[in-house]
Amino acid sequence: MPKSRYIPTDIKKEVAKRAKHLCEYCKCPKAYAPGPFDIEHIIPISKTGTSDSSNLAYSCNGCNGLKYNKIESIDPISNKLTPIFHPRKNKWSDHFTWSDDGLLVVYA
Ligand SMILES: [Zn+2]
Repeated sequence: MPKSRYIPTDIKKEVAKRAKHLCEYCKCPKAYAPGPFDIEHIIPISKTGTSDSSNLAYSCNGCNGLKYNKIESIDPISNKLTPIFHPRKNKWSDHFTWSDDGLLVVYA
């Protein structure tokens, strides 16, 4: 797959369907989101990523904006540089859960 940011419409639809129209980072449903969703590169093009569907994630605008082109960040619990959640390699429930009131995503 060439290193292009272009993602064909059929691949965008496939990625959204695979994610069940939920943000792959916060699990927000597209139907309840205040803004548009993005097809984002899990490993950014600028950091060896490709536009292959295995490197694409369905993301709400908020998560995509926060993640930007990062692949690692300081873990607030360990205070160590840690890879960011990878929707194809990591299981969401191993890393996150919902707060008791169901309003926030928190670390599991
Ligand atoms: Zn999100």
